Amino acid sequence: MSKAAAIELVSVTKSYGAATAVREISLRIPAGSYCCLLGPSGCGKSSTLRMIAGHESITSGDIRLGGTVVTDLPPARRGTAMMFQSYALFPHLTVAENVAFSLKMKGVPKPERQAKALDMLRLVHMQDHAGRRPAQLSGGQQQRVALARALITDPEALLLDEPLSALDPFLKIRMRAELKKLQSELGITFVHVTHSQEEAMALADLIVVMNDGRIEQAAPPRTVFERPATPFVARFMGDHNVLSGTVVGTAGDAVTIGMDGGNTFAARGEGSPNGTRADIAIRTDRVRIGEAGEPTLGFTGRVANIEYRGSSVKLSLAGPGIDDFTAIIGDTAFFASPIKVGDTVPLAWRADDAIVLDRVNV
Ligand code: ADP
Ligand code: MG
Repeated sequence: MSKAAAIELVSVTKSYGAATAVREISLRIPAGSYCCLLGPSGCGKSSTLRMIAGHESITSGDIRLGGTVVTDLPPARRGTAMMFQSYALFPHLTVAENVAFSLKMKGVPKPERQAKALDMLRLVHMQDHAGRRPAQLSGGQQQRVALARALITDPEALLLDEPLSALDPFLKIRMRAELKKLQSELGITFVHVTHSQEEAMALADLIVVMNDGRIEQAAPPRTVFERPATPFVARFMGDHNVLSGTVVGTAGDAVTIGMDGGNTFAARGEGSPNGTRADIAIRTDRVRIGEAGEPTLGFTGRVANIEYRGSSVKLSLAGPGIDDFTAIIGDTAFFASPIKVGDTVPLAWRADDAIVLDRVNV
């Protein structure tokens, strides 16, 4: 239905007085992709989105939309539309009037804007509620109306700030699927701010992990999950153990790291000179309980806590110089030879499941 535009940020900084919220970030979001800006509260996601929308001035740097520099353009002339966290519907207007509002402001004649509003309501399956007021709708329905209202301007990019955060868990998952479907039907670029890694993994073609105003990694979900670039990404995604040590040897793409507690582990990655500090990440779901005497990578840990999760069991362990290590064990393997809190168990993983992380931002 619409045209899509690539979004490019070139060395963009946002300061509020003396405080810097976004620090010289550069990023290219391909046209027609679903991009999630992901990170903890306060890391600069909303500031970045508002600068793309034109609702916030850019302190330095440039933003391009489909090749046009939009840095100094007002929101309505950028080809973007924004959907806010609180849907910001007008309570005294009907659903159809809310959706048609921006066309009314542009002076589009009534029959034309009513027809377009109905088209948009059909797109989000709300055509039967056109005459209602926002207070007569559920949270999920209000969200659909807000979507229709944002899309009526035929934007090249839709910007969504935590669009699912007000919904209950069940509706959240349903609306998430609808957003993804809508994006692929419309083919326009979506930029969606979230602090939930699960949401970002489910939706995005491109995940941009932010921390303290900087981009830690921008990559497809599978890359962020399997090859986190930095200790922050590995910890934030929550599926890796991050351990620190010192490089003691390099052979090909295998780096040997001497851990602070005396263990020596091999990991995949770029070699650094011996003596350099390094962090490695080990996938929690790839850690196994080793066999006695088995020559493996790993260490002997003491079980501090056990959590049953249905299809898997989460073990929290401690070892020499390692305070908190997580192993996610499949339920079948766990219950075949159960383990108790206080037991000492050999932990093992394959060399490929340990990777060296980039320390650039540490
Ligand atoms: P996020 O959306 O990731 O939670 P924000 O972009 O909202 O992060 O905020 C980033 C930082 O900028 C925070 O420290 C926040 O307090 C600050 N900030 C955001 N908006 C303003 C503002 N209008 N005035 C001053 N500081 C702000
Ligand atoms: Mg925010």
